[in-house]
Amino acid sequence: MTAAPAFPMFVSVPEATAHLRALLPDPGVDRVPLSGALGRTLAEALAARVSHPSATESALDGIACREADTLTATADQPVPLRVVGESRAGQPFAGTVGEGECVRIYTGAPLPPGTDAICPVEQLTDQGPDHVLLRRPARPGDVRPEGQDFRAGDVVLPEGVPLTPARLALAAALGHAEVTVRRPYRVALLSTGDEVVAPGQPLRPGQVYDSNRVGLGALLRECGCEVLDLGHAPDSVDALHAALDAAGGADLLLTSGGVSMGRYDFMRDLLIERGTVTFWKVRMRPGGPALLGRWAGLPVFGLPGNPVSSLVVFGLIVRPALTGQPLRPVRLRAGTEFRGVPDKTVYARGVLRGAEVHAYRQQSSGVLRSLSDSDVLVIVPEGAEVPAGADVDVLLL
Ligand code: AMP
Ligand code: MG
Repeated sequence: MTAAPAFPMFVSVPEATAHLRALLPDPGVDRVPLSGALGRTLAEALAARVSHPSATESALDGIACREADTLTATADQPVPLRVVGESRAGQPFAGTVGEGECVRIYTGAPLPPGTDAICPVEQLTDQGPDHVLLRRPARPGDVRPEGQDFRAGDVVLPEGVPLTPARLALAAALGHAEVTVRRPYRVALLSTGDEVVAPGQPLRPGQVYDSNRVGLGALLRECGCEVLDLGHAPDSVDALHAALDAAGGADLLLTSGGVSMGRYDFMRDLLIERGTVTFWKVRMRPGGPALLGRWAGLPVFGLPGNPVSSLVVFGLIVRPALTGQPLRPVRLRAGTEFRGVPDKTVYARGVLRGAEVHAYRQQSSGVLRSLSDSDVLVIVPEGAEVPAGADVDVLLL
């Protein structure tokens, strides 16, 4: 190419994410039972239909009593209390507890009227069926106040969050049996390259197993996407043209390979010459050659073929665009030096050692073990030199 390109080049990672997000269609929503909602994105805010706890209740097994009656209790001079009944989870004590009285109480049972403290069973000695001796004052802190977790009407889960196991449990506790979630994106997945061969086949010299389609397929499923596996296409304009046409029904086509500077990088040529290009190249390493465009209205994200690059670009750009969840770096101490490069953010593979992060010994974008053996990506800003001992932002892998 000699003339200046008609599309942006060398965009930043946040710009690339925003471009991709803008091309994705609105997926619509589904109503699903909680058992089918793991990993889906909540499409409505969830309010509590009840309070939890619904009444002030005991946090342990013991007796419920009046704290004031027990203040002088010691091992040498225990305080006697008369047992007037019991309060069980789901079966509260019906009466009121008076001075010098108590009820046996169990975890999750409501505190009866008149009581304000709990004495754990370990601190009690029974004296016949109707009396207990306390060897320590009862504690008001051993109760769970009404509404401690949430109160009826509180908006507890915001729209847009991914439904993790803890959030599904919370949705159930709020009183919801079903939730409205975003429809999954349908993402078509294609590997390219004459040398790329499906795992399980014999490998001739110069060939390489298709690791990208396995890794990217798993990443897509982790994001809750439906994957349309288009298999693999050789480096031929006709074959790639046919594969692009075949992806028409998807919300997005994700390809790997064929978008960098080589003569046989035909995915790049096809999108530039016969499609539309939104941007080409991102200021990042690994992953620089990524390309976003459209093929007859279908958004196409061209990931570089290098195995580390394709998975890292997915994590930094594609996943945040598909899920709407921003990257969440955390700060750690660098245990080794991390060198940046001019005009590119480096995402270095790092291994945790205690509270420190150490550079993985190999940072080549062809070394897939650098991802599988690492714990984090260390974000090294453009041109930065991070000495050992400095703080760095990292993304958990
Ligand atoms: P490309 O981006 O097509 O120039 O490919 C860059 C490098 O990634 C080459 O060494 C390819 O053999 C390798 N590669 C491309 N596609 C895949 C794939 N699906 N799985 C594993 N390696 C790949
Ligand atoms: Mg290739």
